[in-house]
Amino acid sequence: MRPTGRLHVGHLVGALGNWVPLQERYDCFYFVADWHALTSDFADTSQVTSYTYDNVADWIGAGLDPEKSTFFVQSLVPEHAELYLLLSMVVPVPWLERVPTYREQQENLKDKDLSSIGFLGYPLLQTADVAIYDARFVPVGEDQVAHLELAREVVRRFNNFFGDVLVEPQPLLTTFARLPGLDGDKKMSKSVGNTIHLSDTPDEVKKKVMSMYTDPKRVRADIPGTVEGNPVFVYHDAFNPDTLEVENLKARYRAGKVGDVEVKTKLANALNARLDPIRERRTALLANPGRLREILFDGSARARRVAAETLARVREAMKISYR
Ligand code: AMP
Repeated sequence: MRPTGRLHVGHLVGALGNWVPLQERYDCFYFVADWHALTSDFADTSQVTSYTYDNVADWIGAGLDPEKSTFFVQSLVPEHAELYLLLSMVVPVPWLERVPTYREQQENLKDKDLSSIGFLGYPLLQTADVAIYDARFVPVGEDQVAHLELAREVVRRFNNFFGDVLVEPQPLLTTFARLPGLDGDKKMSKSVGNTIHLSDTPDEVKKKVMSMYTDPKRVRADIPGTVEGNPVFVYHDAFNPDTLEVENLKARYRAGKVGDVEVKTKLANALNARLDPIRERRTALLANPGRLREILFDGSARARRVAAETLARVREAMKISYR
């Protein structure tokens, strides 16, 4: 995850919620991608480190466990940069120019200068991030599948030249697609500002839910409303475990027999019930910055040991290993 802002409930359903159960089945590595944050945000780096600590507090709040998984910071494992450099020798530039997000992001983020080598090379750095741990699986959403496909091609090309050195990673597709924004926009996103943060107070959550976009045609509570694609109901499905309550609200909404205030109040309650334990854990952790720092430094040292072994193998295979 890139430390470019506070985490929101989209991250909870689209990423963290999927990562937590993986810890029981796999030897997981989760990292704060601070170098990746620089690819788009190099002009203002003032908050990268504070977001790093804040995001990791959210991870732990959401149930990721540094005792079960390795947490690290990308820049504390500089081996990623060396592998990226070595891979860059064998990867043709057009492979990177063809990655769909390359042009898309340049079009979408017009206020940012995305003409750098760093931005072009971003999916290659991702390849190094994955390959350096011999990762077999990467938990990603649909939006990242093209990047992983590139990673697989890069690994195949590298292995073609230097032998069976790197492992081809497979996507482990996450189940939840995209959480829409409070404004009904396709995606809840920190760059749009249509978010509920994991760190929002119960009152802030309630206020945001009350201001949410619903069915615009429904100007009065007795007009039948549309449930499908209505963000208030998408959120109910994602966060309200009381399916009977949700089905009842949907039926009454379709029949024009419930007001927005009731639908939204029940949503705010469900969201706050889900966020309460997360907030509690993150607050406790942020009150103890020494512990948070220790988690990241210990995890980074552990990650570094694995990364150094892979890199030694790579140097050996490339015959640039000096003794
Ligand atoms: P970002 O912070 O936008 O770089 O997103 C990091 C990851 O979080 C993405 O690759 C997604 O898997 C997930 N994510 C971010 N926003 C959402 C959202 N609105 N709905 C679902 N998943 C999301």
